[in-house]
Amino acid sequence: MTRMSNLMIQMPRYNYECNNCGEIVVVFHGIEETCTDCKACEQKDTMKKTLSVPFIKKTHTVSGVNSKVGELTKEYIEMNKEILKQQKQDIKKETYEPS
Ligand SMILES: [Zn+2]
Repeated sequence: MTRMSNLMIQMPRYNYECNNCGEIVVVFHGIEETCTDCKACEQKDTMKKTLSVPFIKKTHTVSGVNSKVGELTKEYIEMNKEILKQQKQDIKKETYEPS
């Protein structure tokens, strides 16, 4: 259990929102992983990464989903880049700090 806790602390934190039931969860996982399945309503591929700040609330229209997916993917990539950048800075900070 202790080992697990240590691992959790090092993991980046992500907010996810379920498109199906609206459940918002905080998930810890690696930067290249994603969480897609909702544990609340047990649906698959409904979880979308969100920022903790209010994000553009998606309307629940189904048409035109395909064109939106590309845009969203781009946003997620940008988001990940930002997170990566922040993490690198954090790591640097830790490295330079004498222990
Ligand atoms: Zn759900």
